[in-house]
Amino acid sequence: MGKGRLFVVSGPSGVGKGTVIARMMQKDPSLWKSVSATTRKPRGGEVDGVDYFFVERPGFERTADGGGFLEWAEYSGNLYGTPAASVQAHLDAGENVILEIEVQGAMQVRRSAPEAVLVFVKPPSMDELERRLRGRGSESEEAIAARLEAARMELSREMEYDYVFVNDDVDATVDEMLDCIANAGEQPQETSS
Ligand code: 5GP
Repeated sequence: MGKGRLFVVSGPSGVGKGTVIARMMQKDPSLWKSVSATTRKPRGGEVDGVDYFFVERPGFERTADGGGFLEWAEYSGNLYGTPAASVQAHLDAGENVILEIEVQGAMQVRRSAPEAVLVFVKPPSMDELERRLRGRGSESEEAIAARLEAARMELSREMEYDYVFVNDDVDATVDEMLDCIANAGEQPQETSS
């Protein structure tokens, strides 16, 4: 592990993690967000190499078998993985690295990099999460139902994280998470929720 610190951000799909992380990076350009590989098809507006590396399953499996992922997991029928080499390169360069990944992957990171800081972002309520998922307008009823089901499982594991934030107000969540990063490595703190 290099000089930078590793931050894992999890939370149900639709909770607004992407928006929060994008604003954190605007405010603190020294943060670097890892780009994952996935076998999911791109949603409208997503760009290969920016949002994800969109790959086919056989290629993903070859990389996984070769130890090329820091962690990987199956989620809603698709595979997602964090490329190990680029994360290590940024940590070695002294940058703080953010992984936006789901719970199973977060727990793999906890095992392989125990110094990583695990952060969970949750919605104010399940009704609000459903509203946000529908508002995105990019997924079928079936996909929304699958994501809500996955969300219930993920929310049941929030206590496995170091910090929990309720994303009610995006600006407040951004500031709280930046504080969390600034203070990480000092004293362990009680989580706020
Ligand atoms: P989405 O399809 O909505 O972009 O992502 C679905 C879920 O996969 C989200 O919870 C997202 O954080 C997670 N995810 C994205 N990349 C990775 C990854 O590299 N590894 C793991 N384990 N989960 C990921």
